[in-house]
Amino acid sequence: MTPLRDRYDAFLFDLDGVLYRGDEPIPGAAAAVSALREAGRRVVFVTNNSARPPSVVAAHLAAAGVPATPEEVVTSAGATAELLSGRGCRSAFVVGEEGIREALAGAGIELRDGEPDRVDAVVVGLDREADYTKLRTASVLVDRGAAFVGTNGDASFPAPDGSRWPGAGALLAAIATTSGTEAEIVGKPHPTLLRAALARAGGGRPLVVGDRLDTDIAGAAGLGWDSLLVLTGITRREDLQDAAVTPTYVAEDLSILHG
Ligand SMILES: [Mg+2]
Repeated sequence: MTPLRDRYDAFLFDLDGVLYRGDEPIPGAAAAVSALREAGRRVVFVTNNSARPPSVVAAHLAAAGVPATPEEVVTSAGATAELLSGRGCRSAFVVGEEGIREALAGAGIELRDGEPDRVDAVVVGLDREADYTKLRTASVLVDRGAAFVGTNGDASFPAPDGSRWPGAGALLAAIATTSGTEAEIVGKPHPTLLRAALARAGGGRPLVVGDRLDTDIAGAAGLGWDSLLVLTGITRREDLQDAAVTPTYVAEDLSILHG
């Protein structure tokens, strides 16, 4: 049987639960990525997180033993900026952190803070400083016709103690509930981020590698792409029994990519 790494030319890796858990490297992950690189495969790191710029993500990866350049990191923030600038968006009101602000500004989109009268787009990502005034301003701007875009729809993210804290999806829900308008979402499982990742990698036979059924695997399935679910993150083998999507492959960890 053809080894897995020879069946694809582009490997799109999710990060948390696949290459590291928080600050802890996942054993075998670094070796798998370097084996792919040595075999000439294209490797890209894909994250729904819009708060951290690619340079910060690359440094986190390097600290976990996986050397990466910022160019190899595709974030939902970068994909959102590309999407909007491609549509001629000139100005945005942002509920979000450094990653999305940097990406939009870098794409030539003017950031309007405070309480602007009008903008082309309201862009929402994880924002740990969000308050009522920001949510109110965002809702009013959507009501006035601004495009409403979310970097990702993640309801929550894991806090250091294991409890769940509100994610970008929770902030989006507040604005959607107020305005009666649903946001267009860029991150997994929606196709925009994964398409941007493949465009960055190049190649035509992608394998999406992730630990979540509802984002990584569902996103790949929606595009008709193959996927590898690793059990080093959030998903347990028993979760597969009544799952809505089925990964192409399931493995305990990334050592399946060595051979
Ligand atoms: Mg993950």
